[in-house]
Order: sequence, then structure tokens, then C-alpha cells
Amino acid sequence: MAKPQKQSADGSAPKSGKLGRNDPCHCGSGKKYKDCHLLIEQVARTEQLRLRQAQDTLLPRIIEAAQAVPDLLPAAFDRFWQGKYAFERMQETPTGLGGDRSLTWEDRGAERFLTWFAFDVRQPDGRTLVDQLADSESFEVDPYERQLIAAWQPVRLRPYLVESIKKGRGVTLRDLLTNDMRQVADYGASKRLALGEVVVGHLVPADTAPGAEAPTYYLAGAAAQLTDDTAQKLVEYAELHLADLRRTTPEATWADLIDERSELLNHFVTALPTEARDPSLLQRIVSDGQIALKLTAESVASLLGRPAPAPAPVTVEPEADTLPSVDEEQP
Ligand SMILES: [Zn+2]
Repeated sequence: MAKPQKQSADGSAPKSGKLGRNDPCHCGSGKKYKDCHLLIEQVARTEQLRLRQAQDTLLPRIIEAAQAVPDLLPAAFDRFWQGKYAFERMQETPTGLGGDRSLTWEDRGAERFLTWFAFDVRQPDGRTLVDQLADSESFEVDPYERQLIAAWQPVRLRPYLVESIKKGRGVTLRDLLTNDMRQVADYGASKRLALGEVVVGHLVPADTAPGAEAPTYYLAGAAAQLTDDTAQKLVEYAELHLADLRRTTPEATWADLIDERSELLNHFVTALPTEARDPSLLQRIVSDGQIALKLTAESVASLLGRPAPAPAPVTVEPEADTLPSVDEEQP
């Protein structure tokens, strides 16, 4: 049996879309493309398109379902915003609020909350709303949406760093806690985001491109976008909470932390000023978090299994020309 040639000479995936119907098939079978892989690939492309469309229609249905759980919303709302906003404000219509339209149901802040409520908050039976909907016969969805919602059950609010950008196509995001890479297809995000910026949001998998090992992700609903100076402090802030969780659950992982308290990411976001950079405020958010959790630098290090920090270092800014050139690669 001949070994199929799955890759073209340059190592890239076959560009079957450019093959003529009567050309030899790229798989090396010797048959014409139309008699071999053409149909399989058409089906795969249609499938990919349908899943991508389902991704667009499923989220609004989930958000709608979240608004239909009124009993649990107020407590979850306080958990998410730390009492910064009054839940009653969410019910008001934009008119009559004067200039402040920041938190109406139609607003992005409300959408951020409702997305978190659906994906992250455990209902009384211990499952999330997305879990419940995935198993519910009465949640009317088409087969593609049904397939997607099953894949969305483990999705939680997470922090990501913009690792690379393909303008007009998408971005590569790196999970700041686990360093996992995600390919995100989002035309808007690819124009709006800059390298090194932080995105706090829900990444949902949808279609898988032909030949790709991992699915393409989309940003579900509204995500918070933070300047590129925030990544390190956000991780430090999250580490404080991981250390705190390990006081009661010594084996707790990042996944456990996110599962129990992903709202902490929104607390970090809301403590930041709107757009301006403020290093001292960033440090204060971490320090305040440390005080609130009654943690010392030593106890954090110990709970995270790290060496104890050196006593109060005096940082000296090195001159630019004395920096060691450790990043240079020898040819
Ligand atoms: Zn073939």
C-alpha cells in the first residue's frame, strides 16, 4: 500500500482548493481529484462553514437563557462586580440615566456579566447554565449548535496575551495562566488588538480548518481589553488567589482556581483605569489583593512551591548599553 502524501513538497497542507477536478488527487492515489478527495473535502468545508455560522447564533441563545434565570442573577452580579454596581441599574432603560449608559442590559458590561454567568457560575445543581442547556431537550438548537454547546461546556473566563496578529484574519492568544496557544478567528479583534495586550474573555471552539490539529476559537460576547503593561500584574494577582485557594486545597491548579473564582479576573479589570497606563495603580491592585487575602510574600511563595523571596530588593535601572545581550543567537 502506497503511503499517502499528506503534505506538499514545502511541508504545508495541500491546497486542494486550487486543484482542478481532473488533476491527479493530492493524496497520491493516482485517481483524478474529482473521483477521489473532492467530495470528502467539499463536505468538510460545508461542515466547517456551518459550525462557524452556528457559533454566531448559539451565543445569543445562551445569553437569552441566562436572562431567564432571574433568581440567581443578583447574587452572581455582586460576585462579578464586587458590589461596584447596583444590580437594579441593569434593569433600567438607557433613557433617563443621564449621560451614564454604562450598565444597561444592552451594554457590553451587561453582556460580559451574562456571558460569565452562563459559562462560569454554578447553578444550584452544581452545573453551569451551559452544562444544563447542553443536556436540555427543551433548549432548541440545530445539530451544529448542539455539537458546539457540548464543546463549550469546559469554557471559562480566562486571561490571554496577544501573541501574534494576522491583520484582517485573526490573532494568536496565549493563555496567561497555562501558556496554551489558541488560534482565534476574529476580524474585528485582529484590527482592534495590539501585540502584548491582554484580553480577558471566553474563547469558544468552533470549526476546525482542514489539516489543522486544533479547532479555531472565537471570542464569545464582549471581552475586556487591557494595555500591554498589565499582563505580569494580572498573573501576580491571580497567583495570590491560587495561593489563597491552596490554603484549603493544597493541590489546587489554575483550572481549579478558574473553576471556583474566575470573577477575580473581572475584579482586576474593573480596578484598572479606563485607558491610561498607571504602573503604581497596577502594583496597588496586587498589594491590596495581598492585604485582603491576608497573605505575605513569604506565604505566597510557600503556597506556590517557590523559594522565599529575597528581602526588599533595591532595583537599579541598568544603563541601556550595559544590558547583557542574552537574546542574541549565534549564527
Ligand atoms: Zn485522494
